[in-house]
Amino acid sequence: MDSLAELDDRVAGCAACPRLVAWREEVGRTKRAAFRDWTYWARPVPGFGPSDAPLAIIGLAPAAHGGNRTGRMFTGDRSGDVLYQALYDVGLANRPTAVSRDDGLELHGVRITSPVHCAPPENKPTPGERDTCRPWLVQELKLLRPTLRAVLVLGAFGWQAALPAFAEAGWAVPRPRTVFGHGTRVPLDGIDLFGCFHVSQRNTFTGKLTPDMLREVLRTAGEAAGLAVK
Ligand code: SF4
Repeated sequence: MDSLAELDDRVAGCAACPRLVAWREEVGRTKRAAFRDWTYWARPVPGFGPSDAPLAIIGLAPAAHGGNRTGRMFTGDRSGDVLYQALYDVGLANRPTAVSRDDGLELHGVRITSPVHCAPPENKPTPGERDTCRPWLVQELKLLRPTLRAVLVLGAFGWQAALPAFAEAGWAVPRPRTVFGHGTRVPLDGIDLFGCFHVSQRNTFTGKLTPDMLREVLRTAGEAAGLAVK
């Protein structure tokens, strides 16, 4: 694959996980009442952001009525509300909200992706689904590698999925592998790898992850990537 645009097209057409294909399409048919006028995307959600991004953010998987509805990462759900507000606050996005694929949102030097591209039931992909989806992340990391300087991983699931993907993409991953933690920073073969609690409602509603904490990690990761943050 020569380009991220080509990769994104191919991801969006993937049907390798029968359980997730069935779920994403069923959610698209049954919908949530508040979104009954929407035509759900109901397909794999590709990464979002420029192909020459020096900073990548890796989450978990699209939300059933968020990315699976709108077709863009973290767009149209509470987790995305928190993430995009923080990206805007530190100068890495041109607007603080994300509601649809044509809302004009642009990221500055940031590419957002996930180790699993289809919405899973209860936000829980199986280890087998994670492994089946890994080649897409490996390809994305390879294509980003020339410009990539830092990676921020949201949550332990993403961390566990990202480290083997880095190894498969050609990075030298230190052993034993560093355990995930909020604020963890690991030098990884020319890039800086950061851990951050996931922006899930469970973490943000309980105060486990506050907007201040998220902004701080984004600033640090942005600076490590050579981006202008505020
Ligand atoms: S989760 Fe990944 S591998 Fe599985 S169907 Fe979706 S895009 Fe394909």
